[in-house]
Amino acid sequence: MSVNFAKCTSVLITGASRGLGLQMVKHLVGISDRPQKIIATARSPDTAQELQQIAKSHPEVYIVPLDVVNDASIEAAVQKVSSIVGPAGLNCLINNAGIGVPSDLNSETRDRMMTTFQSNTASPLFVTRAFLPLLRAAAAACDGGVMSVNRAAVINVSSLLGSVQLNWGETSVHRAYAYRVSKAGLNMLTRCLALDLQSERILCTVVHPGWVQTDMGGKQAPLTPEESISSLLSVVCALSEKDTGQFLDYEGKNLPW
Ligand code: NDP
Repeated sequence: MSVNFAKCTSVLITGASRGLGLQMVKHLVGISDRPQKIIATARSPDTAQELQQIAKSHPEVYIVPLDVVNDASIEAAVQKVSSIVGPAGLNCLINNAGIGVPSDLNSETRDRMMTTFQSNTASPLFVTRAFLPLLRAAAAACDGGVMSVNRAAVINVSSLLGSVQLNWGETSVHRAYAYRVSKAGLNMLTRCLALDLQSERILCTVVHPGWVQTDMGGKQAPLTPEESISSLLSVVCALSEKDTGQFLDYEGKNLPW
């Protein structure tokens, strides 16, 4: 499946300084059917050297500061993005930023549980709510009512580790308490958003990118960022009504909750 965002005017990616978020930007600028505006957000854009280099040679890439756990930063980003997209609004919001620190029953701390929940679960809600007026503007500017990333969509990047059903039996792993709980929460959050935004036909889908070689995934992961993201974006650009409120992996397979 190819990646075709030709009919999608704008995409915003959180956590684009490195890892999968950066790879999304790299992939999008490399295809001919790319969105007209690729808004790459990072909490410290000045230190995101590779992203800065990409933006220098690609005028369609706009770097916007955004720390997803900071409400003032979210508000400032909405203002900035509003001036970039104008009345056409924002078509696709990808909540990718996240944190993950290994832990087990003995080593988990209250602090880490709360910090991880803030980044991985609460932030996608408050970022999405803040950008809703721009998503609604994009939906209104679209002639057709068909749900897709070309109209208005929220894509939440979760993890297989957030699946309650899969964490049982022989393959279960009793690790990463905070991370797993935060991603299970993100899965539920996506369901709630999908229900709330269904009447406005704003698509909300939660995705698992695979286990990928990034700072978070580690070197032993089976997938390269290129493999994960080329496949994930081909799935994302083909999402439709049937996929809203669903939990899909990077190959488009439905995952158990
Ligand atoms: P990385 O640790 O490599 O990158 C995380 C990104 O999130 C960085 O850009 C980081 O920015 C950003 N980030 C973290 N906190 C904030 C914040 N408060 N505000 C803005 N940006 C923030 O992780 P990956 O790229 O591997 O992961 C991306 C997403 O994919 C995450 O949601 C993760 O849970 C998910 N995922 C990853 C898997 C994997 O195997 N890699 C597997 C399943 C899911 P900064 O550079 O400033 O720290």
